[in-house]
Amino acid sequence: MHDEARDDAALRRRFGDRRDLMLAKASPKPIVYVAVGVVAFAVWDAWLDPSALARTLPIRLATALLLVVPYVLLRRRWPRGRRARWLHGSVYLIGILGITAATLQLEDGFLWGAAGISVFPLVLAVYPLPARTYLGLSALAAFGIALLVAICDAPTRQLINFIVMFSLSVWVGVTALQVLRKQQWRLFVLEQQHAADARTDALTGLFNRRHVEQLGRRQFDVATRLERPLAVVMIDLDHFKQINDQHGHDVGDRALILTATVLRKALREVDLIARWGGEEFLAILVDSDAEQAFGAAERFLQRLRASEPAQPGSPSLWLTASAGVSVHAPAAEGQRVHGFDELVRHADLALYEAKRGGRDRAVLYGAPGSD
Ligand code: GH3
Ligand code: MG
Ligand code: MG
Repeated sequence: MHDEARDDAALRRRFGDRRDLMLAKASPKPIVYVAVGVVAFAVWDAWLDPSALARTLPIRLATALLLVVPYVLLRRRWPRGRRARWLHGSVYLIGILGITAATLQLEDGFLWGAAGISVFPLVLAVYPLPARTYLGLSALAAFGIALLVAICDAPTRQLINFIVMFSLSVWVGVTALQVLRKQQWRLFVLEQQHAADARTDALTGLFNRRHVEQLGRRQFDVATRLERPLAVVMIDLDHFKQINDQHGHDVGDRALILTATVLRKALREVDLIARWGGEEFLAILVDSDAEQAFGAAERFLQRLRASEPAQPGSPSLWLTASAGVSVHAPAAEGQRVHGFDELVRHADLALYEAKRGGRDRAVLYGAPGSD
């Protein structure tokens, strides 16, 4: 339960990071449309109140000019996280305050323009902003507008009409934002699940072969760079076909799950364990030399031998396995290998020796008598 809560918090943090990244990468192009719109509405001013055009046009042009600042900064792609939020937010504030200032110059312009101004919060809702930022920006906008109205002495009735419209718009906007965010969250969770499924083996919950190969290649590079040893243990259950034949496939499956559990317990948290194929497992033991890896392999075999029978009440079913161990020791002359694939091949050869030598044992690749 505790783990679940922690996982959920981590998932939510990743979702927040994703949202911030989406915002940082959001195109600054809409700023151009906003600027063009702000200036183009001078035509509306001219139709409503031709005498006021001389006052509104400079305001509109100044607003468009101010919008160049966030546009340039957003184009440079330096904004991330909070900065990106405030830059996109500033477009909203500059736009909405500029339009308000222009409409206040017209006879009853604020009354006519209230609907247009109230469209802004709806547009802002499609941006991947946290709801808190959205509401904070809208509160700032409302405060700025009230200030402008007070300066320009617009009738109170017009202000009340505006407040109602603007509040309604913010309410619709925040609702839309929540709906959008919920859908994005569901998709995000699904995507994360699919990504996890693509990495794991459904039966045992271990990594699958493809994923462990990727991890292994990376670990190999890190080990080589740091000149630390890296070990691989290839494990194959003994006479597994017989278990399936004698006890059925379900029991075979349970034996595979049991093997995975024993492996997890026998190895360290940092080791990478995978189901390599059918009844074969592969473990990557980071920072382990030959002695440590061989010891770990033997410890696992011993615990598997001593583990509960996979089928309750059937004493005849005791699991054993064979293991091949290989090591890449970049610091030791003669124990270097060329790549992760070669390390796996060595472990496979050692495993073959273990089978040939009578099974239920571990063999270290390159050890005297192993080849
Ligand atoms: P050896 O000691 O030489 O390894 O003998 P073995 O019988 O284990 O070897 P073999 O490779 O011939 O058989 C592997 C068997 O593993 C064949 C297949 O029926 C079984 N197997 C592979 N994948 C699964 C699985 O997902 N579930 C179950 N129940 N059995 C599986
Ligand atoms: Mg096999
Ligand atoms: Mg086998």
